[in-house]
Amino acid sequence: MKSIDYDLVIIGGGPAGLTAGLYAARARLNILLIEKLVPGGQIISTDWIENYPGFPDGISGVDLVGKMTEQVKRFDLNIESGEVLSLDLSGPVKEVRLDGKTIAARAVIIASGASPRKLGVPGEDTFYGKGVSFCATCDGPFYRGQKVAAVGGGDTAVQESIFLTKFAEKVYLIHRRDELRASMILQERAFANDKIELVWDSVVTSINGKSDGVENVDLKNVKTGETKTLPVDGCFIWTGIAPNNQFVGDSLKLDEYGFVITDSKMETSVPGVFAAGDVRTTPLRQVITAAGDAAIAAVSAEHYIESLK
Ligand SMILES: Cc1cc2nc3c(=O)[nH]c(=O)nc-3n(C[C@H](O)[C@H](O)[C@H](O)COP(=O)(O)OP(=O)(O)OC[C@H]3O[C@@H](n4cnc5c(N)ncnc54)[C@H](O)[C@@H]3O)c2cc1C
Repeated sequence: MKSIDYDLVIIGGGPAGLTAGLYAARARLNILLIEKLVPGGQIISTDWIENYPGFPDGISGVDLVGKMTEQVKRFDLNIESGEVLSLDLSGPVKEVRLDGKTIAARAVIIASGASPRKLGVPGEDTFYGKGVSFCATCDGPFYRGQKVAAVGGGDTAVQESIFLTKFAEKVYLIHRRDELRASMILQERAFANDKIELVWDSVVTSINGKSDGVENVDLKNVKTGETKTLPVDGCFIWTGIAPNNQFVGDSLKLDEYGFVITDSKMETSVPGVFAAGDVRTTPLRQVITAAGDAAIAAVSAEHYIESLK
């Protein structure tokens, strides 16, 4: 039997990882949380969160992360900086591999979240950081008095487009369908905002510019086939997310989009390996659901570890 470094390794320090850490630390498990960037995950790049309970006036993503991090520190959660590159889940001892080191654990919680899905059109990579962005909080202030394109139709696209109107003179919200998927309250706010212009039934086919930045985007109407060029200074993309789980390989069952499949206890297809938050197959990807999943995953991991004794 290989020697064990930790009862539980948590991969990722977003809302799911920090919540799993909180529950597992309070259960007095010997835990390590591994985060490749800084704790916080996607909410670091979120301007304002008004649907997380307990904050009647809403809270900024950065402040919410600050509070979550402060809370886990009270329980001495051990957080290590590093990127998980692969897993060996074939034996009873789970191996978590980082660059130059392997950590052995009785159980693992995968809370590595998700990243924005790219459009896959010409110019998207060329102009990334020079007009193409996935983060209004980070880059919105650069577009004061300018015109920007925003691509998407869900909650994130609409909420972030509204935020962009604090800076931009015009936000063209480009959506491939003739109605938005976003919640009604966000739709009402977007329709009432005269800086937002909806471009229905359209997709971006190319993002164009010169070396110093974006100058326009090419659009195609998916119903009529009509094409046009829209002059803009930037292009924000919010068309969904893809799971951050390349390190899983084929060791776990994934759904058709690559998200990790779990049961109601957040256990994956491998006993002792759990998943929580945006990385797993779930009908809703939000801070509250990530935290809820993670609480279940941590308690399930605790029961699993107990069952080994
Ligand atoms: C612009 C935007 C606005 C949003 N607005 C809202 C909102 O208003 N309300 C709401 O409830 N939700 C909102 N969300 C969604 C919310 O942020 C996510 O649902 C939530 O952050 C998911 O938490 P998570 O912990 O599962 O994943 P993430 O937040 O994605 O965190 C995963 C963490 O794992 C780390 N990680 C990834 N791979 C590895 C690896 N190999 N090794 C080590 N660490 C790794 C990442 O660096 C990251 O810190 C928004 C998201 C975005 C992008």
